[in-house]
Amino acid sequence: MPLHLLNHPLADHVLTRLRDKTTPPAQFRTLCHQIALLLTLEATQDLATRAHTVETPLETFNGRALECPIVVVPILRAGLGMLQPIVDLFPDVSVGYIGLERDHDTALARSYYCKLPPLKNTRVLLVDPMLATGGSAVKALDVIFSRGASEVDLLNIVAAPEGVAVVEKAYPKIRIFSGALDRELNARKYILPGLGDFGDRLYGT
Ligand code: URA
Repeated sequence: MPLHLLNHPLADHVLTRLRDKTTPPAQFRTLCHQIALLLTLEATQDLATRAHTVETPLETFNGRALECPIVVVPILRAGLGMLQPIVDLFPDVSVGYIGLERDHDTALARSYYCKLPPLKNTRVLLVDPMLATGGSAVKALDVIFSRGASEVDLLNIVAAPEGVAVVEKAYPKIRIFSGALDRELNARKYILPGLGDFGDRLYGT
């Protein structure tokens, strides 16, 4: 199964508060930070490590060190809300940016910015809070794979079945990590029950 859903009471609590339309932007940002931490821990459980020996103040310790460089790619602008928690957990990450804008009338993704570090032999975490139609995710994945990436996980806070199906069809091997799988999209391609426009709620626009 490419879709992995969070299964943690804190995730349920945070998601419910994110969905609440009375939650103000300041709290929304904190909640976004918390859920992104949980998603990142879930998605990176299988990171490769190598043997790494250190000297404690008392004796030698045969430990482990992370092996594979990690690249995080937020889809602008809403994905920026999930960036800091990943940098907090993995301070050595490289960060790439893909700017995709959703046309409010057609709901189609339009690219306006792309800046990526080298992606070969890295683990890429593509982050976008809302997986709605899947159009933006597939567009971003197209770019990321065309730049030499081979291992990519997609992290979303809320996913719609329609978006999961679109990503799964285009990239069957991609693992999708989501906080919740919601019911459906409405006619304007918003997720139901969802939480509204993520970027607007994050930035108070
Ligand atoms: N983007 C959002 O911010 N919200 C949705 O419901 C769908 C896409």
